[in-house]
Amino acid sequence: MTDFTNQTAIVTGGAQGIGRAVADRLAKGGARIAIWDRDKALGDTAAEEIGGGAFACEVDVSDWASVEAAMTATLDTAGRADILVNSAGIAGSNGPLVDYPVEEFRQITEINLLGTFHVNRAVVPAMTAQGYGRIVNIASVAGKEGNPMASAYSASKAGVIGLTKSLGKELADKDIAVNCVTPAAARTRIFDQMKQEHIDYMLSKIPRGRFLELHEAAAMIAWLCSRENSFTTASVFDLSGGRATY
Ligand code: NAD
Repeated sequence: MTDFTNQTAIVTGGAQGIGRAVADRLAKGGARIAIWDRDKALGDTAAEEIGGGAFACEVDVSDWASVEAAMTATLDTAGRADILVNSAGIAGSNGPLVDYPVEEFRQITEINLLGTFHVNRAVVPAMTAQGYGRIVNIASVAGKEGNPMASAYSASKAGVIGLTKSLGKELADKDIAVNCVTPAAARTRIFDQMKQEHIDYMLSKIPRGRFLELHEAAAMIAWLCSRENSFTTASVFDLSGGRATY
């Protein structure tokens, strides 16, 4: 088990799904967890179940003022921020680009890409002041390959990959690592937003022939968040079961 004793980990979207699995795993290693999620009730429940001083902040990552307030509250409560995992995200609906609602494209971009920018922007100054930090942004294999009927989602996740590579290079002279992971489909509540034929398409593209399990995602992310990851930064780690090998 990777040791996160005396560290504070912010997990956006940590109320459920991949974020919750990561929060559980980091907490088992001794980290104090700050769940940043727009679902207040689920965030509070998650914090209570995780224990170890975990707490929840209600935040909309697409809103800069909300993110700034969550960072202030986190530093007031925990005094530091060693780890950041950006899992907050939405899939949006599936449909051809030419018919895709402009407002929905904007909303997906604002949560998945602008939200990732907001959270990194808010948290990095504390890590810089501490001289230590580990950041993992959750992108998607869709951001590498593109998924048909999901142009907004794929574009937003491609943006997260670019943001991660850029920020990682900016911070490379410090002990702050910034990486991202590109999962294939994992069975979470995000599936509720998708058409069944899209879920079938994603599964058909995974050479392993099955969905990604949440504990498998959490294991890779936890290592990227650890002190053991002292060299690699600005990189993309594949979690796609063989779909994308680059
Ligand atoms: P999920 O729906 O189970 O959890 C997402 C969490 O993000 C929820 O708790 C939700 O309340 C929160 N959230 C959404 N919008 C928010 C906002 N504006 N501000 C704050 N919190 C917000 O989804 P998941 O499957 O766990 O996905 C987690 C991340 O992994 C997402 O970024 C997703 O795009 C990515 N991903 C998921 C899959 C998959 O198949 N599950 C595959 C590749 C990438």
